[in-house]
Amino acid sequence: MSELIQSRSPQNPDDVVAEHAPVPPHRVADLAARARVAQAAWRREGPAGRAAALRVAAERMRARADATAALIVREVGKPVAEARAEVGRAAAILDYYAQSCFAATGDLLPPSLPAEQPGLLYTERRPRGVAGLVTPWNFPVAIPLWKAAPALATGNAVLLKPSPEALACAEAVGRLFDGLLPDGLLQVLPGGAETGQAVIDAADVVSFTGSAAVGAEVAVAAARAGVPVQAEMGGQNAAVVLPDADLAATAAMLAAAAMGYAGQKCTATRRIVVVGDPAPLTEALVAAVAALPCGDPARADVTVGPVITPVARDRVRDAVEAARAGGGRVLTPGGDTGLFVAPVLLDRLDPNHPVAREETFGPLATIFAVPTPAAAVALVNDVRYGLVTSVHGRDIGLLLEVARGVDSGLIRVNAPTTGVDFHAPFGGEKASSHGPREQGTAALDFYTSTRTVTLAAPPPPPVPAEESA
Ligand code: NAD
Repeated sequence: MSELIQSRSPQNPDDVVAEHAPVPPHRVADLAARARVAQAAWRREGPAGRAAALRVAAERMRARADATAALIVREVGKPVAEARAEVGRAAAILDYYAQSCFAATGDLLPPSLPAEQPGLLYTERRPRGVAGLVTPWNFPVAIPLWKAAPALATGNAVLLKPSPEALACAEAVGRLFDGLLPDGLLQVLPGGAETGQAVIDAADVVSFTGSAAVGAEVAVAAARAGVPVQAEMGGQNAAVVLPDADLAATAAMLAAAAMGYAGQKCTATRRIVVVGDPAPLTEALVAAVAALPCGDPARADVTVGPVITPVARDRVRDAVEAARAGGGRVLTPGGDTGLFVAPVLLDRLDPNHPVAREETFGPLATIFAVPTPAAAVALVNDVRYGLVTSVHGRDIGLLLEVARGVDSGLIRVNAPTTGVDFHAPFGGEKASSHGPREQGTAALDFYTSTRTVTLAAPPPPPVPAEESA
């Protein structure tokens, strides 16, 4: 546990971006106790005070936009145009949840009281206490904030255990709130799996984003501790291309959705399912992928930068080798230099092959051909994941038929699988998600518990005997 947590720039691994001693797991309970004391004060703050703090954090995010985007580029290799968009979204998330401090916190229902006893029956949402947030590296500012902002807005304290690969970005998120919150209300706790487990054990509510394997462990640990949990995990997302789809526009959209940010988004397109003759789309896709600007993520035109670590690079190498050995055909030149991995398009792969079924989390996608829309739906659903599916075409009936049939939490018609609306519920089906949705107003529900209050007028005084005579 004493080894330092370090993040290194993937485009230049000699560049150590941040370094920190991990928080030892045995200290987490004390830090949670400190957060609990701060939370009692934060609850009393009221909506105006909480909203003001979140609004100032949003203003700081905007004032620091260039530096934060540059840090995202440096620490996780995200192409700068996307890094800027992430910072813009982060500020908007803070604004959105600042305003949500004034949202209704319950419902009024008809009470079942005796006619002579007027009263109210209402629900009231209350903060859960300490929110334990465990986050991945790929949206190093937006994901911590889309969890922390609603948790804070609803009156909770936050223990954030960020990914070791995105430590500097998490510290930048923490600094947005300097001087705005009671001491200890929001704590960034660097560490690995053990620190993450300790955060889950100490929390009153747990929100996790990351891989399916870790998410399953987190969900079990939280259930054992008896606290509510949401886990957002991986995907093996499909794009269904119907015969009347616009070839060039769809190919460009899919190339970007599969390979942008080196395929390191949970919503990236991994499987391209073509209904009918796959040849024209395959040709258009190969050209669209070849046209993607790859290289230094700090360059404004680049859309495909490096992968995050040597392990991630090796995962792509191994997947290509396994796909080839399993009869798959590689349609792009491929190869890698340092952590820059050239995008890989495959076809002729058996849909049961592990590369077709499991997330490689790199710039790799596979084309499948099917004869009918119904066969496309069956293929889309034949994996354990169900995060997002896109459908491309013109015939509204067919688009709706496919959209209705696929088992995924997000459906995007004539839009890329990538792209998230922070004001709408977000999450997947099957192994992609566990527990309630996050983002939008769903997050306000998740970070609160609802209690039901019956408030009756005191019983009427007994009527004096002479009056009743
Ligand atoms: P990861 O699962 O390796 O790590 C996520 C976080 O969990 C990190 O902070 C890590 O330190 C921590 N962790 C690891 N083991 C743990 C344990 N046993 N107990 C508690 N915490 C533990 O994921 P990653 O590599 O950082 O991120 C990539 C994955 O995240 C991909 O699978 C991707 O699809 C997924 N992802 C999903 C979404 C979504 O919203 N569905 C969004 C982004 C990324």
